Amino acid sequence: MSIKVLVSVDFLDNQAKNSSLDLISFAFKQNWSVIALCLGANKESLETVKKAGAEKIFFHTKKNSNPQILTEFLSSLIKEQKPNLVLASSLQHNLEVFPRVAFRLKKPFLSDSLNVKKTETKWLVKKSLFAGKCQAIVELNLEDSPVILMRPHQVESYETHNVTESAIVEQLNWYFEEKDNYKLSQIKQNQLNQRPDLTEAQIIISGGRGMQGPENFKLLEELANCLGSHAAIGASRAVTDAGWCPHSMQVGQTGKTVSPQLYIACGISGAIQHLAGMSSSRTIVSINKDPSAPLFQKSHYGLVGDLFEIIPCLIKELNQKTAELS
Ligand SMILES: Cc1cc2nc3c(=O)[nH]c(=O)nc-3n(C[C@H](O)[C@H](O)[C@H](O)COP(=O)(O)OP(=O)(O)OC[C@H]3O[C@@H](n4cnc5c(N)ncnc54)[C@H](O)[C@@H]3O)c2cc1C
Repeated sequence: MSIKVLVSVDFLDNQAKNSSLDLISFAFKQNWSVIALCLGANKESLETVKKAGAEKIFFHTKKNSNPQILTEFLSSLIKEQKPNLVLASSLQHNLEVFPRVAFRLKKPFLSDSLNVKKTETKWLVKKSLFAGKCQAIVELNLEDSPVILMRPHQVESYETHNVTESAIVEQLNWYFEEKDNYKLSQIKQNQLNQRPDLTEAQIIISGGRGMQGPENFKLLEELANCLGSHAAIGASRAVTDAGWCPHSMQVGQTGKTVSPQLYIACGISGAIQHLAGMSSSRTIVSINKDPSAPLFQKSHYGLVGDLFEIIPCLIKELNQKTAELS
């Protein structure tokens, strides 16, 4: 049975996000034929989508962020294309849309999934449960055509494939109604965090209540600058609840799920709800003055001490190394 997968591609500043390209490349490597849906894209930005392995691309230069409008649109496209599987990244805006789509089309829905395998008759989906405390393998019949949101960076990073036949590209002419209230709140949040998107960043430096106030986040900015432009700043919920940082920077069960190569936690105790969002990071470094802070149990490297002494030392050391190398 040949398998057709529809991958919904997220775009940021006219660039397809790596987490979406990873999904296309993953599906391509399973020999599934990939339909990529690209909303808010221009024609030039589709090159990476093609190279990741998409066989057919539907694109639209606009994207309305209103979940009700998107649900309407996605449901009709899925009904028309009849994919055996729908994949998208488990990101907040997708979590607002895809459960509605699945409900409307009467299809199974799974979020925060870690892997998808196909057997002769079943889909086997590995999924994180209870804020990351355990994992389950969910079995679904192939003909159920589920809608699955995958946690970013769980499948292998995308490769560009030698796709001999070029992808079929079709521009959609669906009319997206404008809803300014959604756009305004997004712009406001983006302006407050100019760094890379947390779910895409390879390096994340997160601050917790131990930062003692919003003014001290400039220390994390300085550390991030030493680590390069791909470092993002995150925060614990204690920080976002206190209004020191916008909610878009929150990592955890009720914030974003991240899996960077390097996660540096500064003044974060390591509550289970925080771990739920970052425990799959490749390397975890914790800075905390309390040696019994639970996050040390999950860390690869722990620095016990006052972050206001440790971070300036790290910045000095990194600046020295950069100067030596240049
Ligand atoms: C339903 C629900 C959902 C939740 N969702 C989330 C979520 O998505 N994300 C999340 O983060 N939390 C979430 N929480 C909250 C979570 O339970 C914790 O309260 C929160 O993560 C604590 O944040 P924190 O580690 O910054 O603060 P604290 O637990 O207060 O820890 C601060 C740490 O800073 C250290 N410290 C203080 N001063 C210094 C210093 N000078 N140098 C070094 N270390 C210092 C302290 O030793 C301490 O370990 C949720 C809670 C609930 C109930």
